[in-house]
Amino acid sequence: MIQKLSEDLVNKIKAGEIVERPYNVVKELIENSIDAGATFVHIEIYDGGKNLIKITDNASGISPEELHLACERHATSKISNFEDLQKIKSFGFRGEALASIRSVSKFTIRSRTIHNDLGCEVHYENDELHQSKKISCNVGTFIQIKDLFYNVPVRQKFLKSTTTEYSHIYDLLIAAALSHPNISFQFSHNGKQIFKYTQKSCYFDRFNEVTGSESSQYSEINFQKGSFKLNGFISLPESTTTISDYFLIFVNGRYLKDRLLRSAILQGYQGLLIKGLSPSVVLFLEMDPTWVDVNVHPSKIEVRFLDQLLIQDYVSSSIQEHLKTKIKRHLESKINNDDSILLERNRFEFQNNVTDKFKDSTDKTQKIKPTNFFEKSNLFSSVLENTSNIKYKNRIEPPVANNSILTGAEFIGQFLFCYLMFQKESKIYIVDQHAFHERILYEELVENYKKNKIKKSMLMIPNLLIIKEQHVLMIEKNISFFENLGFQIEILNPSKIAIHSYPDFLKSENSLDLFNKI
Ligand code: ADP
Ligand code: MG
Repeated sequence: MIQKLSEDLVNKIKAGEIVERPYNVVKELIENSIDAGATFVHIEIYDGGKNLIKITDNASGISPEELHLACERHATSKISNFEDLQKIKSFGFRGEALASIRSVSKFTIRSRTIHNDLGCEVHYENDELHQSKKISCNVGTFIQIKDLFYNVPVRQKFLKSTTTEYSHIYDLLIAAALSHPNISFQFSHNGKQIFKYTQKSCYFDRFNEVTGSESSQYSEINFQKGSFKLNGFISLPESTTTISDYFLIFVNGRYLKDRLLRSAILQGYQGLLIKGLSPSVVLFLEMDPTWVDVNVHPSKIEVRFLDQLLIQDYVSSSIQEHLKTKIKRHLESKINNDDSILLERNRFEFQNNVTDKFKDSTDKTQKIKPTNFFEKSNLFSSVLENTSNIKYKNRIEPPVANNSILTGAEFIGQFLFCYLMFQKESKIYIVDQHAFHERILYEELVENYKKNKIKKSMLMIPNLLIIKEQHVLMIEKNISFFENLGFQIEILNPSKIAIHSYPDFLKSENSLDLFNKI
């Protein structure tokens, strides 16, 4: 028998498209606040938002006559005709968020506009109006969501741990804060303040506020071509690590997860990054709203571009151009100061040792006598034995052992004290000494890690670190991994740790740096 579904059931089905987890609730609500002109948004969540979410803004508010309507499905103040749909500037336009959220939670909304002396509060439970009253309150809107999915047990079962739900919301709010510097954001979890960002006048200031001392690892980019604008911050190749802190793309202020834009950005870095590293970017792409169709996804996390290829090309070529200019300038300043190339290389003790070895017997300018290193002796092991300040007593065999492509190659010289040259048949081989040294360290580390044999050097006074809460959670989860690596860590509170030991093989001055990278 075919029958029309009840409105209640339809609402729950619809709600499923929009509200999948606490993250979606927070997203819809802060977007409403932003659309309504807030300059202040306060977000409080409990148990990762599963238990309670409270959002307060100082935006325009909703009049008592319209408050019920705002919570009805397909009720919106943002569009009224088809033309509007094609040039959307607001986050919302479908009029579904409040209706969806209220159908799957114990929902309270309180609001007042500047034109009313009193505000109004309404409360819904089981998707039914339970209470409505006049109330005195500030101009703006307060919304409380209690017991999300209490009436949809299936959904509730799919919720993840508090930590996971919390970190989705945290990431969302960081993205919102970065893209809306003119709004002050305050966020707390289980009663504890996580951050409070004050109003800023530009992206740059907010970016500094959010990233703190890390901001120096980024380069600001500004491009404009016709009606396209590309602004933001991208990590420079030399400070890029294996994990990207941010990979945030905003199109007309809207945070997107767009696979194609993502690959366009990576393409911009192509050839400039060591394999395996992933850049961090915060990019704001702006264009005429008629160029983007935002009405393709219920929670609007994807969009469709009028000309996808053109935009991808614009993004990747802008990034590439910017990075190349930066790198060129960096190199030019190096080359102008002749010694700096060598100075730079002095960081790598191994090179120095190799250099010293050759310096003893030969003058710098003199050509080093070619020898067949890989047949007669092993260059690297003999070099390593001579390195007094590196502990290589239990050294592993260098990777260029017997079956290496360099077996039988003839050593013909050294370039810039950094590269070793070999010839074999009609080919030339260039070995980057630094990379080689790292490889040896790496192999040794892996070997010892596997055997649980990494020695720790204990600190008399532990290093205390204040770090992001989600990083503390991550460390807590992987504490035995760090322990095996030689880092003995104690968690002092949700954002503070003590490091009691470092791996013995590290020099003390870079141990903290390495820890941060790990
Ligand atoms: P949409 O955002 O798609 O219009 P919503 O269900 O999210 O739909 O909101 C319905 C309407 O309620 C909005 O169009 C807006 O007029 C009003 N509204 C919602 N939240 C706020 C808020 N925080 N401040 C002022 N008005 C709001
Ligand atoms: Mg909305």
